[in-house]
Amino acid sequence: MAGIPDKIQTWQMVQPTVYNRETKETIPGKLEKKEIPVPELKAGEVLVEVAGCGVCHTDLGYFYDGVPTVSKPPLTLGHEISGTVVAGDPKWIGKEVIVPAVMPCRQCILCKTRRGNRCLDQKMPGNSIGIYGGFSSHIPVPGIDLCEVKGRGNIPLSHLAVVADAATTPYQAAKRADLQPGDNVAVIGITGGVGQYVGQTAKALGAKTVIGIARNQEKLDRALKFGADFVINSKDKDIKAVSTEFKDICKKNGLPNFGWKIFEVTGAKGGQEIALSLLGFIGKLIVVGFGMAKTEYAIGRLMAFDAEIIGTWGCLPEYYPIVLDMVLKGKINIESFVEVRPMSSIASTFAEAHKVPPMKRIVLTPDF
Ligand SMILES: [Zn+2]
Ligand SMILES: [Zn+2]
Repeated sequence: MAGIPDKIQTWQMVQPTVYNRETKETIPGKLEKKEIPVPELKAGEVLVEVAGCGVCHTDLGYFYDGVPTVSKPPLTLGHEISGTVVAGDPKWIGKEVIVPAVMPCRQCILCKTRRGNRCLDQKMPGNSIGIYGGFSSHIPVPGIDLCEVKGRGNIPLSHLAVVADAATTPYQAAKRADLQPGDNVAVIGITGGVGQYVGQTAKALGAKTVIGIARNQEKLDRALKFGADFVINSKDKDIKAVSTEFKDICKKNGLPNFGWKIFEVTGAKGGQEIALSLLGFIGKLIVVGFGMAKTEYAIGRLMAFDAEIIGTWGCLPEYYPIVLDMVLKGKINIESFVEVRPMSSIASTFAEAHKVPPMKRIVLTPDF
Protein backbone atom coordinates (compact mmCIF):
# COMPACT_ATOMS: atom_id res chain seq x y z
CA MET A 1 0.00 0.00 0.00
CA ALA A 2 1.22 3.43 -0.86
CA GLY A 3 1.84 5.93 1.90
CA ILE A 4 0.55 9.44 2.37
CA PRO A 5 1.77 11.68 -0.46
CA ASP A 6 3.18 15.19 0.03
CA LYS A 7 1.00 16.56 -2.72
CA ILE A 8 -2.05 15.51 -4.70
CA GLN A 9 -1.42 15.26 -8.43
CA THR A 10 -4.46 16.30 -10.39
CA TRP A 11 -5.99 17.33 -13.70
CA GLN A 12 -7.66 20.59 -12.86
CA MET A 13 -10.42 22.25 -14.83
CA VAL A 14 -8.77 25.67 -14.79
CA GLN A 15 -11.59 27.08 -16.84
CA PRO A 16 -14.70 25.59 -18.46
CA THR A 17 -15.63 26.28 -22.07
CA VAL A 18 -17.15 29.75 -22.35
CA TYR A 19 -19.59 30.65 -25.09
CA ASN A 20 -20.31 34.31 -25.67
CA ARG A 21 -23.86 34.65 -27.01
CA GLU A 22 -23.28 38.14 -28.37
CA THR A 23 -20.02 37.62 -30.23
CA LYS A 24 -20.80 33.93 -30.84
CA GLU A 25 -17.22 33.26 -29.79
CA THR A 26 -16.21 30.11 -27.95
CA ILE A 27 -13.28 30.21 -25.56
CA PRO A 28 -12.14 26.60 -25.19
CA GLY A 29 -12.02 25.11 -21.69
CA LYS A 30 -8.69 24.30 -20.08
CA LEU A 31 -7.54 21.20 -18.21
CA GLU A 32 -4.12 21.45 -16.59
CA LYS A 33 -1.93 19.09 -14.65
CA LYS A 34 -1.38 20.56 -11.19
CA GLU A 35 -0.06 19.77 -7.76
CA ILE A 36 -2.32 20.70 -4.87
CA PRO A 37 -1.72 20.36 -1.13
CA VAL A 38 -3.01 17.36 0.79
CA PRO A 39 -5.57 18.95 3.14
CA GLU A 40 -5.57 18.32 6.85
CA LEU A 41 -8.12 15.55 7.32
CA LYS A 42 -10.99 16.37 9.66
CA ALA A 43 -12.49 13.83 12.05
CA GLY A 44 -14.10 11.02 10.08
CA GLU A 45 -12.41 12.00 6.81
CA VAL A 46 -10.12 9.77 4.80
CA LEU A 47 -7.71 10.18 1.92
CA VAL A 48 -8.42 7.81 -0.96
CA GLU A 49 -5.74 6.85 -3.45
CA VAL A 50 -7.70 6.84 -6.70
CA ALA A 51 -7.72 3.57 -8.68
CA GLY A 52 -10.05 4.85 -11.37
CA CYS A 53 -12.51 7.65 -12.11
CA GLY A 54 -15.22 7.30 -14.73
CA VAL A 55 -15.93 10.02 -17.29
CA CYS A 56 -19.61 10.90 -16.86
CA HIS A 57 -21.87 12.94 -19.12
CA THR A 58 -22.16 15.36 -16.19
CA ASP A 59 -18.41 16.10 -16.33
CA LEU A 60 -18.77 16.94 -20.01
CA GLY A 61 -21.71 19.20 -19.14
CA TYR A 62 -19.51 21.11 -16.67
CA PHE A 63 -16.60 21.35 -19.09
CA TYR A 64 -18.36 22.05 -22.38
CA ASP A 65 -21.97 23.01 -21.93
CA GLY A 66 -22.04 25.78 -19.34
CA VAL A 67 -23.44 23.65 -16.50
CA PRO A 68 -22.06 25.42 -13.40
CA THR A 69 -20.20 23.54 -10.66
CA VAL A 70 -21.07 24.42 -7.05
CA SER A 71 -17.39 25.02 -6.16
CA LYS A 72 -16.14 27.50 -8.71
CA PRO A 73 -13.18 26.65 -11.00
CA PRO A 74 -10.35 25.99 -10.79
CA LEU A 75 -11.41 22.59 -9.48
CA THR A 76 -10.93 18.97 -10.44
CA LEU A 77 -13.90 17.19 -11.99
CA GLY A 78 -14.76 13.50 -11.58
CA HIS A 79 -17.30 11.86 -9.25
CA GLU A 80 -17.20 8.17 -10.25
CA ILE A 81 -14.37 7.00 -8.03
CA SER A 82 -12.90 3.78 -6.69
CA GLY A 83 -9.67 3.49 -4.76
CA THR A 84 -7.84 2.56 -1.57
CA VAL A 85 -7.88 4.46 1.71
CA VAL A 86 -4.34 5.54 2.62
CA ALA A 87 -4.88 8.03 5.47
CA GLY A 88 -7.42 9.31 7.98
CA ASP A 89 -9.90 7.31 10.04
CA PRO A 90 -7.84 4.25 11.13
CA LYS A 91 -10.72 1.81 10.66
CA TRP A 92 -10.71 2.50 6.92
CA ILE A 93 -6.97 2.45 6.23
CA GLY A 94 -5.93 -0.12 3.65
CA LYS A 95 -9.50 -0.84 2.54
CA GLU A 96 -10.62 -0.76 -1.07
CA VAL A 97 -13.63 1.48 -1.49
CA ILE A 98 -16.15 3.04 -3.81
CA VAL A 99 -16.85 6.71 -3.16
CA PRO A 100 -20.57 7.52 -3.63
CA ALA A 101 -21.13 10.24 -6.22
CA VAL A 102 -23.42 12.13 -3.87
CA MET A 103 -22.89 12.13 -0.12
CA PRO A 104 -25.81 13.33 2.00
CA CYS A 105 -25.37 15.54 5.11
CA ARG A 106 -27.23 13.03 7.32
CA GLN A 107 -28.55 15.89 9.48
CA CYS A 108 -31.41 17.47 7.55
CA ILE A 109 -35.05 16.48 7.35
CA LEU A 110 -34.56 14.94 3.90
CA CYS A 111 -31.74 12.75 5.19
CA LYS A 112 -33.81 11.76 8.22
CA THR A 113 -36.78 10.75 6.10
CA ARG A 114 -34.83 8.50 3.69
CA ARG A 115 -34.72 11.13 0.93
CA GLY A 116 -31.02 11.79 1.54
CA ASN A 117 -30.17 11.05 -2.09
CA ARG A 118 -31.61 14.53 -2.74
CA CYS A 119 -30.21 16.15 0.42
CA LEU A 120 -29.85 19.86 -0.31
CA ASP A 121 -26.60 19.97 1.60
CA GLN A 122 -25.07 16.98 -0.12
CA LYS A 123 -21.48 16.88 -1.28
CA MET A 124 -20.35 15.64 -4.66
CA PRO A 125 -16.70 15.10 -5.61
CA GLY A 126 -15.75 17.14 -8.66
CA ASN A 127 -18.58 19.57 -8.00
CA SER A 128 -19.14 20.58 -4.39
CA ILE A 129 -16.28 19.36 -2.19
CA GLY A 130 -14.07 22.35 -2.82
CA ILE A 131 -11.32 21.88 -5.36
CA TYR A 132 -11.22 18.09 -5.09
CA GLY A 133 -12.37 15.62 -7.71
CA GLY A 134 -11.68 12.14 -8.97
CA PHE A 135 -9.33 12.94 -11.85
CA SER A 136 -6.48 12.96 -9.36
CA SER A 137 -3.97 10.74 -7.63
CA HIS A 138 -5.84 11.16 -4.32
CA ILE A 139 -9.03 12.66 -2.93
CA PRO A 140 -10.15 13.53 0.62
CA VAL A 141 -13.72 12.35 1.37
CA PRO A 142 -15.94 11.62 4.40
CA GLY A 143 -15.42 8.03 5.57
CA ILE A 144 -19.02 7.46 6.65
CA ASP A 145 -20.38 7.13 3.13
CA LEU A 146 -17.76 4.82 1.66
CA CYS A 147 -18.71 1.43 0.28
CA GLU A 148 -16.12 -1.22 1.08
CA VAL A 149 -15.11 -3.55 -1.74
CA LYS A 150 -14.55 -7.15 -0.72
CA GLY A 151 -14.15 -10.29 -2.78
CA ARG A 152 -13.87 -8.59 -6.16
CA GLY A 153 -12.18 -11.63 -7.71
CA ASN A 154 -10.74 -10.77 -11.12
CA ILE A 155 -12.58 -7.48 -11.51
CA PRO A 156 -10.03 -4.64 -11.38
CA LEU A 157 -10.76 -2.06 -8.69
CA SER A 158 -10.62 0.69 -11.34
CA HIS A 159 -13.56 -0.88 -13.20
CA LEU A 160 -15.67 -0.75 -10.06
CA ALA A 161 -15.55 3.06 -10.27
CA VAL A 162 -18.71 2.82 -12.38
CA VAL A 163 -20.58 1.56 -9.32
CA ALA A 164 -20.13 5.06 -7.86
CA ASP A 165 -22.59 6.57 -10.31
CA ALA A 166 -23.60 4.83 -13.54
CA ALA A 167 -24.50 1.52 -11.90
CA THR A 168 -26.10 2.90 -8.73
CA THR A 169 -28.32 5.66 -10.14
CA PRO A 170 -30.49 2.95 -11.78
CA TYR A 171 -31.00 1.20 -8.45
CA GLN A 172 -32.34 4.37 -6.85
CA ALA A 173 -34.53 4.87 -9.94
CA ALA A 174 -35.86 1.31 -9.56
CA LYS A 175 -36.66 2.05 -5.91
CA ARG A 176 -38.52 5.23 -6.92
CA ALA A 177 -40.43 3.16 -9.46
CA ASP A 178 -41.24 0.58 -6.79
CA LEU A 179 -39.97 -1.99 -9.27
CA GLN A 180 -41.24 -5.46 -8.41
CA PRO A 181 -40.54 -8.93 -9.80
CA GLY A 182 -42.82 -9.50 -12.76
CA ASP A 183 -43.01 -5.83 -13.76
CA ASN A 184 -42.85 -4.77 -17.39
CA VAL A 185 -40.24 -2.14 -18.06
CA ALA A 186 -39.31 0.15 -20.94
CA VAL A 187 -35.97 1.94 -21.02
CA ILE A 188 -35.62 4.94 -23.33
CA GLY A 189 -31.89 5.40 -23.94
CA ILE A 190 -30.92 1.86 -22.96
CA THR A 191 -27.65 2.23 -24.88
CA GLY A 192 -26.27 5.05 -22.72
CA GLY A 193 -23.73 4.95 -19.90
CA VAL A 194 -26.50 4.86 -17.29
CA GLY A 195 -29.26 3.46 -19.49
CA GLN A 196 -27.70 0.06 -20.05
CA TYR A 197 -27.45 -0.40 -16.27
CA VAL A 198 -31.14 0.56 -15.97
CA GLY A 199 -31.96 -2.41 -18.24
CA GLN A 200 -29.62 -4.76 -16.39
CA THR A 201 -30.79 -3.60 -12.94
CA ALA A 202 -34.46 -4.00 -13.86
CA LYS A 203 -33.79 -7.54 -15.04
CA ALA A 204 -31.66 -8.35 -11.99
CA LEU A 205 -34.53 -7.17 -9.77
CA GLY A 206 -36.90 -9.56 -11.51
CA ALA A 207 -38.57 -7.53 -14.26
CA LYS A 208 -40.55 -9.84 -16.53
CA THR A 209 -39.94 -7.84 -19.67
CA VAL A 210 -37.46 -5.12 -20.58
CA ILE A 211 -37.97 -3.26 -23.84
CA GLY A 212 -35.03 -1.02 -24.74
CA ILE A 213 -35.40 1.95 -27.05
CA ALA A 214 -32.49 3.92 -28.55
CA ARG A 215 -30.90 4.89 -31.85
CA ASN A 216 -27.61 2.99 -32.10
CA GLN A 217 -28.16 -0.51 -33.53
CA GLU A 218 -24.79 -1.90 -32.45
CA LYS A 219 -25.44 -0.85 -28.86
CA LEU A 220 -29.06 -2.08 -29.05
CA ASP A 221 -27.79 -5.50 -30.11
CA ARG A 222 -25.48 -5.47 -27.11
CA ALA A 223 -28.42 -4.50 -24.84
CA LEU A 224 -30.18 -7.70 -25.96
CA LYS A 225 -27.38 -9.66 -24.32
CA PHE A 226 -27.55 -7.64 -21.12
CA GLY A 227 -31.07 -7.23 -19.80
CA ALA A 228 -33.23 -6.28 -22.77
CA ASP A 229 -35.76 -8.81 -24.12
CA PHE A 230 -36.74 -6.63 -27.05
CA VAL A 231 -35.30 -3.50 -28.60
CA ILE A 232 -36.67 -0.77 -30.82
CA ASN A 233 -34.38 1.36 -32.95
CA SER A 234 -35.95 4.83 -32.87
CA LYS A 235 -33.52 6.41 -35.34
CA ASP A 236 -35.33 8.44 -38.01
CA LYS A 237 -38.72 7.28 -36.70
CA ASP A 238 -41.47 9.53 -35.43
CA ILE A 239 -43.10 8.95 -32.05
CA LYS A 240 -46.11 7.30 -33.64
CA ALA A 241 -43.93 4.72 -35.43
CA VAL A 242 -42.08 3.91 -32.20
CA SER A 243 -45.27 3.51 -30.19
CA THR A 244 -46.80 1.33 -32.92
CA GLU A 245 -43.71 -0.90 -32.82
CA PHE A 246 -44.02 -1.01 -29.05
CA LYS A 247 -47.67 -2.03 -29.22
CA ASP A 248 -46.85 -4.72 -31.79
CA ILE A 249 -44.27 -6.25 -29.45
CA CYS A 250 -46.84 -6.25 -26.65
CA LYS A 251 -49.51 -7.83 -28.83
CA LYS A 252 -47.26 -10.54 -30.26
CA ASN A 253 -45.94 -11.51 -26.85
CA GLY A 254 -49.11 -11.35 -24.82
CA LEU A 255 -47.91 -8.36 -22.82
CA PRO A 256 -50.42 -5.94 -21.28
CA ASN A 257 -50.91 -2.44 -22.65
CA PHE A 258 -51.04 -0.96 -19.14
CA GLY A 259 -48.89 -0.80 -16.03
CA TRP A 260 -45.56 -0.29 -17.77
CA LYS A 261 -42.75 1.28 -15.80
CA ILE A 262 -40.95 3.57 -18.22
CA PHE A 263 -37.46 4.88 -17.50
CA GLU A 264 -36.42 7.95 -19.52
CA VAL A 265 -32.63 8.10 -19.42
CA THR A 266 -31.76 10.33 -22.39
CA GLY A 267 -32.80 13.69 -20.94
CA ALA A 268 -33.46 14.71 -24.55
CA LYS A 269 -36.76 16.03 -25.90
CA GLY A 270 -37.09 13.16 -28.39
CA GLY A 271 -36.66 10.55 -25.69
CA GLN A 272 -39.05 12.32 -23.35
CA GLU A 273 -41.70 12.49 -26.04
CA ILE A 274 -41.40 8.75 -26.68
CA ALA A 275 -41.59 8.04 -22.94
CA LEU A 276 -44.71 10.18 -22.54
CA SER A 277 -46.38 8.53 -25.52
CA LEU A 278 -45.85 5.11 -23.92
CA LEU A 279 -47.22 6.14 -20.53
CA GLY A 280 -50.57 4.41 -20.11
CA PHE A 281 -53.05 3.22 -17.50
CA ILE A 282 -51.52 2.85 -14.01
CA GLY A 283 -48.13 3.43 -15.63
CA LYS A 284 -45.13 5.13 -14.12
CA LEU A 285 -42.64 7.32 -15.93
CA ILE A 286 -39.36 7.69 -14.07
CA VAL A 287 -37.20 10.56 -15.26
CA VAL A 288 -33.55 9.49 -14.89
CA GLY A 289 -31.95 11.62 -17.62
CA PHE A 290 -31.37 15.34 -17.23
CA GLY A 291 -31.86 17.93 -19.95
CA MET A 292 -33.19 21.46 -20.33
CA ALA A 293 -35.77 20.65 -23.02
CA LYS A 294 -39.37 21.78 -22.48
CA THR A 295 -41.62 18.94 -23.45
CA GLU A 296 -45.37 19.31 -23.84
CA TYR A 297 -47.85 16.90 -22.27
CA ALA A 298 -51.54 17.01 -21.43
CA ILE A 299 -51.06 16.33 -17.72
CA GLY A 300 -54.76 15.69 -17.32
CA ARG A 301 -53.98 12.30 -18.82
CA LEU A 302 -52.24 11.38 -15.58
CA MET A 303 -55.62 11.68 -13.89
CA ALA A 304 -57.39 9.64 -16.53
CA PHE A 305 -54.63 7.01 -16.53
CA ASP A 306 -54.13 7.02 -12.75
CA ALA A 307 -50.49 7.30 -13.79
CA GLU A 308 -47.39 8.95 -12.34
CA ILE A 309 -44.36 10.89 -13.49
CA ILE A 310 -41.50 10.69 -11.00
CA GLY A 311 -38.05 12.25 -10.92
CA THR A 312 -35.04 10.51 -9.42
CA TRP A 313 -31.62 11.77 -8.42
CA GLY A 314 -28.43 9.96 -7.46
CA CYS A 315 -28.46 7.03 -5.08
CA LEU A 316 -28.47 6.68 -1.30
CA PRO A 317 -25.07 5.45 -0.03
CA GLU A 318 -26.97 2.72 1.86
CA TYR A 319 -27.83 1.06 -1.45
CA TYR A 320 -24.23 0.87 -2.69
CA PRO A 321 -23.38 -2.45 -1.02
CA ILE A 322 -26.51 -4.00 -2.59
CA VAL A 323 -25.51 -2.84 -6.07
CA LEU A 324 -21.88 -3.85 -5.57
CA ASP A 325 -23.09 -7.30 -4.53
CA MET A 326 -25.17 -7.60 -7.73
CA VAL A 327 -22.08 -6.61 -9.74
CA LEU A 328 -19.74 -9.02 -7.93
CA LYS A 329 -22.28 -11.85 -8.29
CA GLY A 330 -22.51 -11.19 -12.03
CA LYS A 331 -26.17 -10.15 -11.98
CA ILE A 332 -25.04 -6.83 -13.39
CA ASN A 333 -22.21 -6.98 -15.91
CA ILE A 334 -19.77 -4.08 -15.90
CA GLU A 335 -16.79 -5.70 -17.63
CA SER A 336 -18.36 -5.45 -21.09
CA PHE A 337 -19.12 -1.77 -20.57
CA VAL A 338 -15.84 -0.34 -19.28
CA GLU A 339 -12.78 0.91 -21.11
CA VAL A 340 -9.72 1.96 -19.13
CA ARG A 341 -7.41 4.75 -20.29
CA PRO A 342 -4.55 6.65 -18.64
CA MET A 343 -5.64 9.84 -16.90
CA SER A 344 -3.16 11.84 -18.99
CA SER A 345 -5.52 11.30 -21.94
CA ILE A 346 -8.20 13.34 -20.15
CA ALA A 347 -8.34 16.22 -22.65
CA SER A 348 -8.58 14.03 -25.75
CA THR A 349 -10.93 11.61 -23.97
CA PHE A 350 -13.26 14.46 -22.99
CA ALA A 351 -13.21 15.81 -26.56
CA GLU A 352 -13.91 12.40 -28.02
CA ALA A 353 -16.71 11.54 -25.58
CA HIS A 354 -18.28 14.95 -26.07
CA LYS A 355 -18.33 14.45 -29.84
CA VAL A 356 -19.71 10.91 -29.94
CA PRO A 357 -21.00 8.99 -26.92
CA PRO A 358 -18.44 6.17 -26.47
CA MET A 359 -19.36 2.47 -26.78
CA LYS A 360 -18.12 1.91 -23.24
CA ARG A 361 -17.80 3.97 -20.08
CA ILE A 362 -14.28 5.37 -20.04
CA VAL A 363 -12.51 5.04 -16.71
CA LEU A 364 -9.33 7.07 -16.31
CA THR A 365 -6.56 5.63 -14.15
CA PRO A 366 -3.89 7.88 -12.57
CA ASP A 367 -0.55 7.95 -14.46
CA PHE A 368 1.04 11.07 -12.99
ZN1 LIG B 1 -22.26 11.14 -13.17
ZN1 LIG C 1 -29.18 16.13 4.37
